[in-house]
Amino acid sequence: MLRKIISSLIFGFLIISCNSTKKIAADFLVFNAEIYTVDDDFGLAEAFVVKDGKFFEIGTTEALQQKYSYQKEIDAKGKTILPGFIDAHAHFYGLGLQQQKVDLSGTKSFEEVVKIIVEFQKTHDLDFITGRGWDQNDWELKEFPTKDRLDILFPNTPVAVTRIDGHAILANQAALDKAGITVNTPAQGGAIEVKNGKLTGILIDNPMALIANAQDAPSIQDQVDALMAAQKICFSYGLTTVDDAGIDRSVIELMDSLHEAGTFKIRIYAMISNTPDNLNYYLKIGPFKTDLLNVRSFKFYGDGALGSRGAALKEPYSDRPGHYGALLSPVKDFKEVAKRVAASKFQLNTHAIGDSANSLVLKTYDELLKNDKNRRWRVEHSQVIDVTDFKYFSKNIIPSVQPTHATSDMYWAEDRLGPKRIQGAYAYKKLLDQAGIIALGTDFPVEEVSPFYTFHSSVARKDLENFPEGGYKMEQALSREETLRGMTIWAAYSNFEEDEKGSIEPGKFADFIILDKNIMEVSEDEIPNIKVLQTWLNGEKVF
Ligand SMILES: [Zn+2]
Repeated sequence: MLRKIISSLIFGFLIISCNSTKKIAADFLVFNAEIYTVDDDFGLAEAFVVKDGKFFEIGTTEALQQKYSYQKEIDAKGKTILPGFIDAHAHFYGLGLQQQKVDLSGTKSFEEVVKIIVEFQKTHDLDFITGRGWDQNDWELKEFPTKDRLDILFPNTPVAVTRIDGHAILANQAALDKAGITVNTPAQGGAIEVKNGKLTGILIDNPMALIANAQDAPSIQDQVDALMAAQKICFSYGLTTVDDAGIDRSVIELMDSLHEAGTFKIRIYAMISNTPDNLNYYLKIGPFKTDLLNVRSFKFYGDGALGSRGAALKEPYSDRPGHYGALLSPVKDFKEVAKRVAASKFQLNTHAIGDSANSLVLKTYDELLKNDKNRRWRVEHSQVIDVTDFKYFSKNIIPSVQPTHATSDMYWAEDRLGPKRIQGAYAYKKLLDQAGIIALGTDFPVEEVSPFYTFHSSVARKDLENFPEGGYKMEQALSREETLRGMTIWAAYSNFEEDEKGSIEPGKFADFIILDKNIMEVSEDEIPNIKVLQTWLNGEKVF
């Protein structure tokens, strides 16, 4: 033992004396930090050096200062550093497009609605203004508004703003004209409101589609603006990789060209929408990967959502007798797509919310992947699972879940499912125990972008008002370590990218974030308010 210590001391001395003569050139040193490396041992470190956009060595400040020479050093001032967050399921392009719509949620009067639209248009100069979120129940005058003011302010620019529930639109005359709507237009399955023989601009349900159809597809410039806007938001929250769950070839190719041009820097894991055109094209050309873009998966939409009772259940909804929800396509179509994808090198990621949809997806995956152990097919949402179906999850059939769904749905989920089925719903801990891995995401813009909300929901199982006391079904909460792994290395694994990202280890991309508080130690109710101070991607500061 003593000999071992002495020899290691001599060896250590030799290394130090070597280094003092010739230092290794690196790009920069980050020191004086509390670094959660998220390596296998969940180790802590205080410094690392970056070289050529990658982590080169992780260690103590002193050792790295002695061993390396560099142009700059960054004093983290004791702050917490994590690997850049990976959102395993989001709608990145959708988030960007949403930035081109007026947000009218929380407005207190129609006057305020009009004011916001006018201000928005000053900076956006859109050909067709759309927006969402007004609710006349929040106004003093609790009646549907009319289009008159919008006609005066925007005589030539179509304006169509949707009510908060998505079931009514207020459109101005320019929008009605563009959609070809007159007092004589039939309103099958809904209403086109007419008062004193004139259109008021209010459309309810089905006729709303006429307005949607009158809008041009976004121009290339709109699409570029959308991607850049989404990137800016994501960087501000410390996201360095986002899985875009369902995009078309045109968007994927646009992302690739913007990556190449150098302006678009965020890493994207693209799930290709399973349209016939996309399937035929990508199955023919095969997976495609750069450092910034990975195209090796298809997204299939299994069923609807639980809130609207569209999720496919094995037994009827507890709050609607005889109603089962539905699959979005026939079983044979899903199996056929799954079979085609299984015969390729692609991964299949299927949206499954109800226990019936999950059962179908799990059994189909199990059957097709029996002899193929590294396919990592994913079940997006894995939301309501029959107790007999948990057994199918593994590192090859991966649960991909969004913890904020649990805390958004907890108020009514049991009404839909009843006391028995709820046991297998939002059961993240059970999924992790079974699979040995869980990928975490948000589903933004359905939910807020903030990864800190995800983290909070995952560990505390409470909403932002800290309801309910003690947390919602806490036996399904994940620990902070499990949560952080789910948002970094396990998400990377679910993308076949665990060798290049998801932890702070030598050889991986230098994607990291500096936080204002220690997310592993602050009290639970402080987690949602943690701020990202800096976001680094590929050794470059992007926020
Ligand atoms: Zn989604």
